[in-house]
Amino acid sequence: MCGQAPRAARGDTDSDHGSTIVTDERTDVLHSWCVQSQWDAPTIVGGRGAHLFAADGRDFLDMSSLAECSNLGHQHPRVVAAIREQAERLCFVTSAWGARPRAALARALLDRSGFDGGRVFFTLGGADANEHAVKFARQARGVADGLVVTRERSYHGATYACMAWSGDTRTNESPVADTRFVAHVPPPYAYRCPFGSSDADDCGRRAAAAVAAALDAHGVERCAAVLMEPNAGTNGIVAPDTYWPALRRATRERGVCLIADEIMSGFGRCGEWFAWQRHGEAGRPDLMTLAKGLTGAHLPLGAVVLSAAVAKRLENEMLNTGLTYCGHPLACAAGLAALAAYDDERLIERSRRLGAQMLERVTAMQARVPAIGDVRGGDGLFVVIELVRDRATREPPAAWPDTPPALRSLVARARDAGVSFATRGNLILLAPPLVIEENELADALALLERLLLELHADQRPSMPIFDDQQDIRHPRASGDPS
Ligand code: PLP
Repeated sequence: MCGQAPRAARGDTDSDHGSTIVTDERTDVLHSWCVQSQWDAPTIVGGRGAHLFAADGRDFLDMSSLAECSNLGHQHPRVVAAIREQAERLCFVTSAWGARPRAALARALLDRSGFDGGRVFFTLGGADANEHAVKFARQARGVADGLVVTRERSYHGATYACMAWSGDTRTNESPVADTRFVAHVPPPYAYRCPFGSSDADDCGRRAAAAVAAALDAHGVERCAAVLMEPNAGTNGIVAPDTYWPALRRATRERGVCLIADEIMSGFGRCGEWFAWQRHGEAGRPDLMTLAKGLTGAHLPLGAVVLSAAVAKRLENEMLNTGLTYCGHPLACAAGLAALAAYDDERLIERSRRLGAQMLERVTAMQARVPAIGDVRGGDGLFVVIELVRDRATREPPAAWPDTPPALRSLVARARDAGVSFATRGNLILLAPPLVIEENELADALALLERLLLELHADQRPSMPIFDDQQDIRHPRASGDPS
């Protein structure tokens, strides 16, 4: 985990692989999203349900599903068994040849999304799914260099093209991300509405209208796609309900492809298989991208699901793209087992029910904890808490995307108490596995409330809730919101 002061190098003894070797991940591995010299995290050697087990014997309740990806919890027995079984039969064949788990998973995804007559292109993860979705949209629209409209405060991946499309402070700073073919619009961020509206629904409508205006201003014939997260995202924006249907109308009227980036919001995270489904047919995109929950992160896998209309446009044209591991049989077998687990354990419904409960509890907590400015989400097991220095003025404790030291220390204290929370800037992102036990969820929220109140008490009366004398610049505080 990034963000804590460096400790002396620590070796872990790893005897799982035949011989006893000493590993020191802190010196040998280049880690993502952190200053290398500051990386300091426990080594995880096992897991079960919502728990992760560390090499030093500690047990952590995972309140973020790691990078909001382990929707099925850790080591789901059904997925592990399917991987084992497929490994014994056939580990790999390229997509130049057929593979049964690949065909079955494509069909299962088309069925669950209702994309009748569509097709599925498999990738290795989220970023390459977004890259391919845009490629397909451009090819279908016949504009090879077509513009992509995305929004500020969004994240679509860390390849160069995805960095350009993302509206994320972590990727915007890259001098080589090619921003010639992207237009960013303000986000549907109702708590701090960029359009000056104090009504959430109105803010959502205005944000969708800003997309329409961007398409018109750039010329619809030059635009290939609008790429957006429909609900959950690491930037902590949860669009008001008015946003997505209005976006769909605006893109359909203009003939521009709408791509739903469901990489985080899919597979029950927002209470549906795919978050756009909350809006029914009025929300159906032209393409959607998947990863993370697709296998519950047991193996790397991403996908682009294409509507029948987009697939038809590509049907008789050369598709000049591919990845060696497109539709890897092992990963597809994991995906199939994951889908069966979501179904049989009724985890999508469970997420909707527990998400509503979590929202209610955190909203009640807000009445007792002055540092909580806003609480949003809750369509499934995804709730964002936005902390403020002063609730009346909504003054943030740190300028986005910096994380206040008090929040980092809260996360460290929670981890000492056996619970792992993810944060980003002034936000706490609650996204536990959909299999979390109800009492575990209640206990974790009670701990969070206690720590937030202690934070407040610790700093009274001489200090404000958040002390700005300390250094607050750090790209990421905790958890794994990638
Ligand atoms: N899109 C969204 C909405 C994401 O949250 C992420 C990762 O967090 C990505 C894309 C990138 O996925 P990956 O890290 O698998 O490339």
